[in-house]
Amino acid sequence: QHQADRSTVWVGPAEQQVPIGPGTFTLIAGPCAVESAQQTLEAARMAQAAGATLLRGGAFKPRTSPYAFQGLGVRGLEILADVRVATGLPVVTEVVDVRDVGVVAEHADMLQVGARNMGNVGLLQAVGDAGLPVLLKRGMTATVEEWLMAAEYIAQRGNLEVVLCERGIRTFETATRNTLDISAVAVVQASSHLPVIVDPSHAAGRKDLVVPLARAGIAVGADGLIVDVHPSPETALCDGPQALEGTELRELASAVRRIPPLL
Ligand code: PEP
Repeated sequence: QHQADRSTVWVGPAEQQVPIGPGTFTLIAGPCAVESAQQTLEAARMAQAAGATLLRGGAFKPRTSPYAFQGLGVRGLEILADVRVATGLPVVTEVVDVRDVGVVAEHADMLQVGARNMGNVGLLQAVGDAGLPVLLKRGMTATVEEWLMAAEYIAQRGNLEVVLCERGIRTFETATRNTLDISAVAVVQASSHLPVIVDPSHAAGRKDLVVPLARAGIAVGADGLIVDVHPSPETALCDGPQALEGTELRELASAVRRIPPLL
C-alpha cells in the first residue's frame, strides 16, 4: 500500500482524540500491570512526560503461570479510569474474556487483544461489536496472514478501527523472550491499510534491548510504539525486567523522534 492509502485510527473521546496511523508517531506507555492507584498514576505521569499520548496498563493479566499475579480485574479498570481523568490520557487495556468485554469497554478507550488471544474468534467478534478501537497483538506463533485474518474477524462485525501490534514471535532464539519480527511491519504495510505499531518491551523481555528495538521498529516504518514504564521496576508485580524508568522512556522518545520518516 502507498502511505497515502493507509488508514488512521482515532482513539479517545472527541475532545482529545489521538491518531494512530501514517505520518504520526504515537507513543503508548504505562505499566505492564495496574498494581495500585499510586503506581498507575506515577507511571502515567512518566509516560506523559515522555510525550506519550495514550496510557497502557493491564487490569486482566494473561500470565504464563496461573500462580503469577493475574491483575486487579475490575478494580484495575477503575484505577485506569481515574488516572485517565487525572491525566487526560485515553486508556488502552487488555480484555482476555468475552464475558468482560462490556465492563472493559465501559472503562477504556481502546480494547487490547493480547498475543495469547489473537486467534480467539469469539473474543475477536465480541470486541468487534464493542464500539471501540481495537489493538490487536500478533500471536507469538501466528503468521502475518493469520494475524490479518484475526483482524478480519473484527472488521466483519463492522469495526474497522483496528491497530496491529507486532510484539515478537517465538523462534529458536532464547537470548530474547521473543524475536521482534521487524520484517512483519513492512509486510503488513505492503498488504494492509491498517496502522501497525511495535511493542519492544514484550518482545525483548529485558530493558536493555527496548530502545534498540524501538528504534528498529520506527526505522522500518511502524506508526508507533507501546512501551512498559514503571516507577520502581524492581518491585513490579509483572514483567519488571523489561520496564523502563521515566528518564529512560524520555530518552527512548527522543531517540526515536530523531529517526527520519520513510519516504
Ligand atoms: C501486554 O501488553 O500486557 C501483554 C501481555 O502483551 P502480549 O499479549 O503481547 O504478551
